Amino acid sequence: MEINLISDTVTRPSKEMLSAMMQAKVGDDVFGDDPTVNQLQEKVANLFGMEAALFFPSGTMANQVAIKLHTQPGDKLYCDKYAHVYNFEGGGAAFNSGVTCSLIDGDRGMFTAAQLEKSLTPNDNIHLPLSSIVCIENTTNKGGGACWDFEELKKIKEVCIKNDLAYHLDGARLFNALVAKKETPQQYGKLFDTISICLSKGLGAPVGSLLIGTKEHMAKALRIRKLFGGGMRQAGYLAAAAIYALDNNVERLAEDHQKTKELATTLASCNFVEQIEPVETNIVIFYLKSTIDEASFLQKMKEKNILMVSMGDGKLRMVTHLDYTDEMHSKCIEILKSI
Ligand SMILES: *Cc1c(COP(=O)(O)O)cnc(C)c1O
Repeated sequence: MEINLISDTVTRPSKEMLSAMMQAKVGDDVFGDDPTVNQLQEKVANLFGMEAALFFPSGTMANQVAIKLHTQPGDKLYCDKYAHVYNFEGGGAAFNSGVTCSLIDGDRGMFTAAQLEKSLTPNDNIHLPLSSIVCIENTTNKGGGACWDFEELKKIKEVCIKNDLAYHLDGARLFNALVAKKETPQQYGKLFDTISICLSKGLGAPVGSLLIGTKEHMAKALRIRKLFGGGMRQAGYLAAAAIYALDNNVERLAEDHQKTKELATTLASCNFVEQIEPVETNIVIFYLKSTIDEASFLQKMKEKNILMVSMGDGKLRMVTHLDYTDEMHSKCIEILKSI
């Protein structure tokens, strides 16, 4: 039994999800004619109380289109130093939009409105790039699944309004935050200009992300998606998986969060662990004692059928998900305790 805790993207569609996919009514979505894609887009827009949504093959493309939508080449984007849009999208902000990233030195991927205000540069100085967008990420990926304080997000919104900045949320794992903090999608819909969400992370769909915003923004996003090569044809088969995921796999994220907390508690009693970062959702990051060789530790875990990921310098990550069963969980705890 392989226990794969590398990411919540390793899940495979369940029988029920596959059956929903097989029964999907499809059409050519590049002509806007796929009824299941249209149904998903409407469902997600309504869920967030926003005007429109657009289906994407990946979260990266949804974020990159959002950045393109809100900026002109030469502009400046503000984000945390841990941000996915800066670290893990292949330099896309620079490549696709010609945008410079200004990195804020936050805590576990989260900064404050005061920090943002301090780093903002004035738009009336011709030497400086024009500030045009702020991106935040909830939950934070490199920050170990941390959730933002919603009051702080509101304060950041005020800074955005005052300085005429677009406000984008990379919500690849937003549903984890909603479940953990008992928040609603509508709260976020009211606050942000655009939101990207992923169905292929904790929600367990094989493929799929959406960008959500105003009708005007989504009309523009449709053109940019085409330009980026993201138009898909009978995408309704994928949209059906996304609809199934939204209807069945949101509330159960709490189970992943509970298991992750239990993994952290177990790690706290292991003599190979130096330190564990706080656990809020489905990610646990821990540091090996400096006397332990990371590569041989990972090899040993692999021999015991437990897969996790290295973030460098003895920093390791485990992510729980819907294919991580109760049986695997008991086994994993037993193995960790035995090392
Ligand atoms: C996974 C992820 C994305 C999008 O990733 P894709 O693999 O392109 O779908 C974006 N932002 C964050 C924070 C992520 O974790």
